[in-house]
Amino acid sequence: AKRNPGETEFHQAVHEVAASVIPYVRDHERYRKSRILERMTEPDRTVIFRVVWEDDEGNVRINRGYRVQFNNAIGPYKGGLRFHPSVNLSILKFLGFEQTFKNSLTTLPIGSGKGGADFNPKGKSDAEVMRFCQSYMTELWHHIGANVDIPAGDIGVGAREISYMFGQYKRLAKEFTGVLTGKALEFGGSLIRTEATGYGNAFFMQEMLAHRGDGIEGKTCVVSGSGNVAIFCAEKLIQLGGKVVTLSDSSGYIHDPDGLDMEKLAWMKDLKLVRRGRIAEYAEHFGCSFHEGRPWAVPCDLAFPCATQNELEEGDARTLVSNGCLAVSEGANMPTTIPAVDVLHQAKILYGPGKAANAGGVAVSGLEMSQNSQRLAWSAVDLEGRLQQIITDIHRQCVQHGQEGDHVNYVTGANVAGFIKVADAMVAYGVI
Ligand code: NDP
Repeated sequence: AKRNPGETEFHQAVHEVAASVIPYVRDHERYRKSRILERMTEPDRTVIFRVVWEDDEGNVRINRGYRVQFNNAIGPYKGGLRFHPSVNLSILKFLGFEQTFKNSLTTLPIGSGKGGADFNPKGKSDAEVMRFCQSYMTELWHHIGANVDIPAGDIGVGAREISYMFGQYKRLAKEFTGVLTGKALEFGGSLIRTEATGYGNAFFMQEMLAHRGDGIEGKTCVVSGSGNVAIFCAEKLIQLGGKVVTLSDSSGYIHDPDGLDMEKLAWMKDLKLVRRGRIAEYAEHFGCSFHEGRPWAVPCDLAFPCATQNELEEGDARTLVSNGCLAVSEGANMPTTIPAVDVLHQAKILYGPGKAANAGGVAVSGLEMSQNSQRLAWSAVDLEGRLQQIITDIHRQCVQHGQEGDHVNYVTGANVAGFIKVADAMVAYGVI
């Protein structure tokens, strides 16, 4: 905390990992001696820069851009870009640190990073978003490359922003390489990438339940968020026979007790991902209720926080437990506060942390890199099968390192399993 004053989100992420990894390190001399965990908490480097652009009225605007290159022990830096007014160094360091463990768990050769800007895309015209993305990439391109650092999307960065940034990179670098993932299919994107984080989260829940001899069919599901992750998590849950009764955005949530079907979900996709409207419009259109706040008081069997960090707090966790919730699987990064996680663990509710449960997105990004290197495109069926296999492998690693009596502690499992591979590589490189 002394070295990183005020970085509360980063402290929270490190604290959570350290609590489960320190006991493991204590038992392993080679990690302890070379102070691997402390070394892992310091990013390889951080780049912070000015992003200047002009709005539609001709006013000059200034934002702050970042790229945190966290760890490239097992592969090139990889992690998303976030455009949101709340973006600061603490948030990007927490995300980059988490990404180290997540990317290791995917079984693919990818290191970790995270970046973005305190730019708010809400209410901006397409032309303004384009000018911002081009200006951001004009600096970022010096620091990235297909074998160096391969950014992707995150909150506020979807297909539109990736396209503007890829176009600008290509122009500056005079080369066509897979330097970003989440690209459109016409220029090197991968099938299933858009769906991967949400689908992967549903698959991870399926794995946790199957391990207990249960399944998703017939379960009532509460999902928060209505962005890329939430919508495709809901889609896969519906396909697997779940009943999705909520989705939310930063203004509140809709409660549809009949459950969303594919037709309603298609309407929601158009509303949130194309028209960029507010979620209350869904309630008006389909005659269900809209409420301010978060959806955790709606009774459910399964909960899927898929919006943002710290959106599920201790009181919410208590409500979920008293409503008989069986399991929580995180589509978002660190959506559950540490006291809330403690409540879930005490109640022995299945709890899949984001670094395991939402790793499907970066995994398919890794597969997009492989396809770009081969100059080939794999089929959707092939890719969904690979995604499913990767999630099964992640779950197996969590069980291997997280079994505690008759209960699996997925936090310990994910942290320790993710740690080992990166730590072994760092030990092998010596003191550098
Ligand atoms: P999007 O921008 O597509 O959607 C974000 C959603 O969360 C929107 O519904 C947004 O509401 C809501 N939201 C954002 N900030 C807040 C807030 N402060 N309070 C309440 N609601 C909020 O982002 P993604 O779906 O891509 O990302 C969601 C989460 O998943 C993030 O934690 C991200 O880091 C994580 N993640 C994403 C991956 C990906 O592949 N995209 C991969 C792994 C994790 P509104 O529309 O009102 O802004």
